[in-house]
Amino acid sequence: MDIALLGEFGFIERLTKDFTVKNNTTVKGVGDDCAVIDAGEKYLLLTTELILEGIHFDLVYTPLKHLGYKAVVMACSDVCAMNGRPKQLTVSIGLSARFTVEQIEELYQGIHLACEEYGIDMVGGDTTASMTGLALSLTAIGEVEKEKVVYRSGASDTDLVCVTGDLGAAYMGVKLLEREKQVLEGNNVSQPKFSGYEYLLERQLKPRLRIDVIDALEEASILPTSMMDISDGLSSEMLHICKASSKGARIYLDRLPISSKTFDLAEEMGVDPVIAALNGGDDYELLFTVPVSKYEDVMRIGGIDVIGHMTPESKGVALTTPDGAEIAMQAPGWHKQEKQNDK
Ligand code: ADP
Ligand code: MG
Repeated sequence: MDIALLGEFGFIERLTKDFTVKNNTTVKGVGDDCAVIDAGEKYLLLTTELILEGIHFDLVYTPLKHLGYKAVVMACSDVCAMNGRPKQLTVSIGLSARFTVEQIEELYQGIHLACEEYGIDMVGGDTTASMTGLALSLTAIGEVEKEKVVYRSGASDTDLVCVTGDLGAAYMGVKLLEREKQVLEGNNVSQPKFSGYEYLLERQLKPRLRIDVIDALEEASILPTSMMDISDGLSSEMLHICKASSKGARIYLDRLPISSKTFDLAEEMGVDPVIAALNGGDDYELLFTVPVSKYEDVMRIGGIDVIGHMTPESKGVALTTPDGAEIAMQAPGWHKQEKQNDK
């Protein structure tokens, strides 16, 4: 049977359905951004990320130091998505003979930088040979106070939908890198044209880990009702929250936070910036819901946009255009195994 017939999530569901929880320390197993483990006073959050050359990154344009930094963000972002703070990290690498000591040291410099910046301890891992390319697997452990853990499933049908930062920039960043790779491959005397688009490159190559948002929400006494991180694109993540919470949603297209740089490059490359924001992925921003009563508190934090609201499940999940038309929300990653954004 072809895996694509099930889609990524149907496939995972099929593989994991026969596993029942046997230990009362397992609070939440498969199905959220992290597993939740009762550690006595607190909950531990556990998540793992597998990052493969040729699937998730291209070393032609990804500096190894950036790759190391981004890998830490990718793994730890799921801890923030549960309203937790990452504390420990293990790093496993598989590498082929083409890599030198110095190159892998560069990768580790990036891992080190992110660990320093975000206060994370790198506590172990594994090293092995691989037939081709570079494979990275990072496992992050985080902590959250028991009464503050936030799942994907807690949204109520009147909640506001909020998103941090802006969306689509990382996708346009990889588009730019791909374009310049083509230029280089066709003509090795021309230099890549990146000037003016540094922001997009930074969003793709060095995304932020939004622990600052977790801190800001706590300071403002806001406990989101549901949350996840945006790794696959807003549409895909919104559908996950709606499915897990058994709710519908309306997302207003004209409320999507899109940087002017994203608009500029999208126009230049003939890409729809709204599609980049909805389906691009790799943003590592946070998507969460809060009760309507928290509207002003959320706005006061800054850097957070209210992009829509939840609805009863029967209303479905839709995008509302500025003229009031509704388009059913779809996510390319939802039904298919492979990511569509050719990374
Ligand atoms: P995220 O994008 O937040 O990292 P994923 O979409 O990768 O989450 O995974 C969704 C859920 O499925 C998570 O709870 C994850 O632990 C679980 N999962 C993914 N792959 C597997 C697998 N091969 N075996 C068991 N559980 C898996
Ligand atoms: Mg996630």
